[in-house]
Parts: sequence; structure tokens; C-alpha cells
Amino acid sequence: MELIDTHAHLTFPQFRDDLEPYLRRSREAGVKTWITIATGPDEIGMVLDLTEKYDNMYAAIGFHPHEAKLITSENLALLKDSAKNEKVVAVGETGLDFFYDHSPRDIQKEIFRKHLQVAAEIQKPVVVHTRESFDESMEILDEFEGELKNVVIHCYSGSISQTKYLLDKGYYISFTGIVTFKKTDDVRTAAKMVPLNRLMVETDCPFISPEPVRSKHPCEPAFLKHTAAKIAEVKGMTLEDFAEQATATSKYFFNLP
Ligand SMILES: [Zn+2]
Ligand SMILES: [Zn+2]
Repeated sequence: MELIDTHAHLTFPQFRDDLEPYLRRSREAGVKTWITIATGPDEIGMVLDLTEKYDNMYAAIGFHPHEAKLITSENLALLKDSAKNEKVVAVGETGLDFFYDHSPRDIQKEIFRKHLQVAAEIQKPVVVHTRESFDESMEILDEFEGELKNVVIHCYSGSISQTKYLLDKGYYISFTGIVTFKKTDDVRTAAKMVPLNRLMVETDCPFISPEPVRSKHPCEPAFLKHTAAKIAEVKGMTLEDFAEQATATSKYFFNLP
């Protein structure tokens, strides 16, 4: 079995100093390829180092909406330049987070648009983070209609109508361990609705540890197998079949070899 963790924060402090044991456990669990996410200017160099060190390590680079108020034009120039690196497979995560509102909303929108301009220019897909901001995020994506290569809404937990909307738009949807939680029937309904050629999985580690390890361990890439197993169950497939399809979709979306 082979799975791709399409969204991991492997430069966060818990992993940074000694990533090896995490990657070993990950490979043992069948998770042998990773996309590590840069969320701020300081992480860009770090994720690029990881992609150089490991063959099956790729990066998405962007500035998290939480950070939007700190982003300078120099930072945006660095983003644009670094995004051209061949192991950078996407722009993001970027988007809007009106749940935490760590940055003013108008600045979040402006920085989101800057990311979409870069993605459109270099024709790489976009990883979108949206929380309590679905309509506003979709309006901004609409401004770029026809210009973006591909869009994934990551860490998905939307409603049935939102899921329909995203599928109509041609966007991809990526699920985390939230789909394994006891009270998230809505997310399982969404997982059931999304066709396999539009569905990806991610840990978003170190956040969102899935059941049954949720309360026992902080999230790490190996735990992707629990999320995959739950979606396979929801879809009435074997884990192996699901993993094959999710991997094919992820390779297509991120244009991986
Ligand atoms: Zn996110
Ligand atoms: Zn993330």
C-alpha cells in the first residue's frame, strides 16, 4: 500500500530537529511521499532543504492567512521566485481564516489574491485554507476563473451544499483526521460524495490526530493510514483500493512523477 500525505507541516518544531523517526514510521505505515507546507517566509528555506534531502519530499509554499498582516513585498517576491523550484508542487497554503482573525480580513484577502496571481502565472495548483470564510474565499477564486491550474480545499469539513458547489467548480477536496471523529457525520457524508478522482488525504500534522490515536499522540504522517481507512470504510472499499486511487489523484493534482 502506498499513500501520499498531501499536507504536512514537517518544519514545525516538533519535527524539525529529528524528522527521521517520523519518516521511518510513516514509511512503515505505507505513507512514503510527503508534501510539506511552508506557512511563512522563514519556512521557505526549510522546506526547500527537506525537498533536497529526500527524494519523495515535495513542498507547497505560501503564507498562512494568520500571517497575512506581516507579509511584505519582499516576502511576496521570495514566494514567486521560490515557487518556480521544480520540487515546489503547489502555491499555498493560502486563503482566509475568519475563525481566528489573526490578521485583518481585508489584508487576508489581498494576500490571498497575491498568491493566486503567482499560481496563475507559474501554472501550479493552489492549496486553499478556508475557515468561517467559504463565500468570501469562493468569490476571490472566481476572480481567477479559468486562470488557475487546479485548486484543492484542504482540511475539509464543509456542508453538503458547499461540497456540491466545489465539485461543480472542478475543485479538489482534501480530508484530514476530522473524518474519523465520532461527531463528524457531515464530513463522512462529504467524503462519500466526493468522487475518487477529486479526493485527496492529508494529516495536516502536527494538528488533527485521527481516531483511534487522537487523544494519545500528536499527529504525524504515519497516522494518515487511519484517515484513509475511515474513508475507505465510508466508501465501501478496501484500504488498498482506496490508497491506490487517492495516490493516483494526488499524483495527478500535484503533477508528481
Ligand atoms: Zn490550513
Ligand atoms: Zn496546514
